[in-house]
Amino acid sequence: MKKDTLRHQLLNTARAMNSQGINQGTSGNVSVREDDGFLITPSALAYDQCRPEDLVWLDMEGKGQGKRKPSSEWRMHRDIYRHYPQAGAILHAHSPYCTTLACLERPIPAFHYMVAMAGGDCIRCAPYATFGTKALSDAAIAALQDRSATLLGHHGMICHATDLAHVLALAIEVEALARMYLQALQVSEPPVLSPAAMAEVLERFADYKP
Ligand code: 13P
Ligand code: ZN
Repeated sequence: MKKDTLRHQLLNTARAMNSQGINQGTSGNVSVREDDGFLITPSALAYDQCRPEDLVWLDMEGKGQGKRKPSSEWRMHRDIYRHYPQAGAILHAHSPYCTTLACLERPIPAFHYMVAMAGGDCIRCAPYATFGTKALSDAAIAALQDRSATLLGHHGMICHATDLAHVLALAIEVEALARMYLQALQVSEPPVLSPAAMAEVLERFADYKP
């Protein structure tokens, strides 16, 4: 793909995080693999003020090209790309419903079959660690074992997918699940689907393509 096109796609994805209501201010960041590194949103710059040239390319050592400072979460993105080769794009957000659950240190159980979108029968919540640290990236990697999304305790959520379109769709879906789970909790703790029921969903998802 032409490099300019990928920059525009990354910026459009970042802006869609705003229009979809999964961003809070300048929190959150998004990246996509490019060549033997990745392209990531700059730190502390609102996406509506961000231009394609403000996006930062980093190699896998974290060494940069570009005039802007890369996202403070570049290490978490880099470590996820290193650890999970199937990850082609990564999105981190402080989306309100996911973050509410993360502040309660509450994972999302199999209360709805769509939880399987994240690869298993729950969406975990990683323990709290300071933003931008290796401790946070280690916690995220552990919570992402056999999963493509996780909550980050007292912080937000992070997910990965093969490309930008899929990672945005996954983040929106996980936020919708968090909202529905919180709504259900207003009435009572919802019953969960059995491991066998979720295994069947996972099998069907493997074939759920246009
Ligand atoms: P950046 O603006 O540096 O990407 O940081 C936002 C954030 O969400 C930190 O966790
Ligand atoms: Zn954050």
